[in-house]
Formats: sequence, C-alpha cells, structure tokens
Amino acid sequence: MNFTTSIETIQKQLGVTVDGKAGPETWNAIIQKVSGAVAAPAASDRVDDRSEHNIATLLLPVQPYARALVHAAQAVGIEIKVISGTRSYAEQDALYAKGRTIPNTDKVTNAKGGYSNHNFGIAFDIGVFEGTAYLSQSAKYKAVGALGMQLGLSWGGTWQTFHDEPHFELKPLWATTMPETKMVDELRRRKDAGTDAFA
Ligand SMILES: [Zn+2]
Repeated sequence: MNFTTSIETIQKQLGVTVDGKAGPETWNAIIQKVSGAVAAPAASDRVDDRSEHNIATLLLPVQPYARALVHAAQAVGIEIKVISGTRSYAEQDALYAKGRTIPNTDKVTNAKGGYSNHNFGIAFDIGVFEGTAYLSQSAKYKAVGALGMQLGLSWGGTWQTFHDEPHFELKPLWATTMPETKMVDELRRRKDAGTDAFA
C-alpha cells in the first residue's frame, strides 16, 4: 500500500472526503478520533421536567449531550433522569460540610466550592429509574456509561480514584489529555476571569 492509498483508507474509515491528501478536514477528523472528541449531538427534544430543570443549569454546549444521553438510554429501554447539574460554590461548600462539620452525616464529596467539576456547568449526574423508583445501584449505570462515552462524554465510571458511575461531563477540547484536577483549576481560573469554558 503506498502513502496515497493509506490516506484514502483512513479517509474512508473517518467518513471524510476521499482524495488521498491529508488536508484540514482529514486532520480534524483524525484529531477528533484520537482525542475522543465527537461532534455535538443535534439539539434534541426536551426530556422530563426534572431532567430539564437540571439541564438548564449546564452550559449551553453541554445541554444537547445531556438530552441525547436520556434519549439514547430510553432507546435501549433504560429510564434515566438528570438528577444533578451545576452547583454554586456555596452549594458545594454545604455538600462538603456533610460528614465533616455537620453531625450525623456521611461524606458525599471531597471537593470544596470551586474545586468540583460540578461548579462550572460541564458536569451532570444521572439516576436510573424503574417506574417511580430511583435505583442508586444498578448494572444499568454501566450500560449508560458506555452510551455516554459513545456520545463523546467523559464518564465517571472510568475513574480509578473516585469511581463515580452516575457522573458525566463534557470535557472542553483543551482539557482532553489533562488530569481532572488541572482541568478544574483552569475552569476556575476562567470563571474568575469571566472567560468561556470551551473557548
Ligand atoms: Zn457528578
């Protein structure tokens, strides 16, 4: 196989124009493939009210992903709702106090205000439901995780240190290869400076 046919083979697989020349279209597709970035889902129909209430707290680029995940789960017979979205720093501090300064409570987070990926509009948590029953544990979370990753979301179920199956986030492209803590530092800096999280 010569170089041109190699490029053509790659182009066919990427679904871009097949011309044997690796121009910007081909390179963008390669970068997206390698970095795991996927084109944003088209705006999809609104979902249930509880999910929509939480989706409304997310940055605009993240919202179609959250709806697409609800629809994708539905399509395979799994009912999920978005049960948590963006938290203010004060709300995060109140969560952080659980299991620490609030008596008779269990720890629910290791992040203070400004140090959670939920403070910046990129992250949301889902719950699996069967009818009206919320299931905090279910094998279905893994199935939803796979669907989320197909959509281009990062899934907390892949994390080694804090395995978090209900958690999804849309990493900005600049954060693709960054450790989570570095990304959160940069998101906090951008929020303080009033600059776009995704720019
Ligand atoms: Zn989460």
